[in-house]
Amino acid sequence: MATSLFTKKTLGLETAEPAVTPPPANNQTNFGKKPKLASAKSKKKEIPEGLWTKCPKCSTMVFDKELDENLKVCTHCQHHFPIGSRERIHSLVETCTFEEMDAEMTSVDSLQFTGVASYASKLLEYQRSTGLKDAVITGLCRIGEHRTALGVMDFSFLGGSMGSVVGEKLARLIERATEKGLPLIIISTSGGARMYEGMFSLMQMAKTCGALAYHAKARFPYISVLTHPTTAGVMASYATVGDLILAEPGAMIGFAGPRVIKDTTQAELPPGFQTAEFLLDHGLIDAIVPRKELKLRLIEYLGFLTAGQKVAGNGK
Ligand SMILES: [Zn+2]
Repeated sequence: MATSLFTKKTLGLETAEPAVTPPPANNQTNFGKKPKLASAKSKKKEIPEGLWTKCPKCSTMVFDKELDENLKVCTHCQHHFPIGSRERIHSLVETCTFEEMDAEMTSVDSLQFTGVASYASKLLEYQRSTGLKDAVITGLCRIGEHRTALGVMDFSFLGGSMGSVVGEKLARLIERATEKGLPLIIISTSGGARMYEGMFSLMQMAKTCGALAYHAKARFPYISVLTHPTTAGVMASYATVGDLILAEPGAMIGFAGPRVIKDTTQAELPPGFQTAEFLLDHGLIDAIVPRKELKLRLIEYLGFLTAGQKVAGNGK
């Protein structure tokens, strides 16, 4: 690129700049270098940065393209990396069937909260970096043959924290599902309530659970999927009241962090505490489902849970 600009300038005779322009810094340094160093450099360049990710579990370098194709699951040890809400939706719903709800809803900084940075500036920063408006995407879609209401949280937006937008979008989704007689799936990942919104974020726990109670009363199924990590306010509200509670392998699931629990109870915590596997053994969750099997398993469960309704509906 630099060379072509340089040539263009020399061709344009109206400027005398080319003679003054210094050659690129790389060329200068190459003159004094020994051939041994040069060969070492070229070896490094064979692996461009940003194309590989090191798996935190098995330390294997995984090719990013391979990781994307494998739904962000390590091809060697099956470690589940975080996955964005849009990629998740894409992996679950039938093509072109997702109708997003409340896509433009954004938080209001009603407390004028300022910590290290103001809440308003944090929101803008995350909206720019993630391309999301808040930490959940909701909508109606079709999974297999089942028309379903689907909410998917995204940890990359302020740690998947539950503020008033997350609560409101989910409550509206649940109400829509009740109104239309649809099953509901919420895929959670969250660090908990959004501290920037104080009490407003805590109110979302009651609001979402209230809407879920009406959905349950109308006898429509709700499947909650817990992914790494699902904690605090989300865990203590809508994430744990599913008719079926599923989790991804190795997901950290709990209310308070292990250190807080250890300090409060003054007891040693059992190994594997707060992992999906531990909670399956202790009966809190119903099944651990690998990400790549999730769609088929959801179709299977939806078929099972809505079978009675279809029979009742046909009988009327
Ligand atoms: Zn791995």
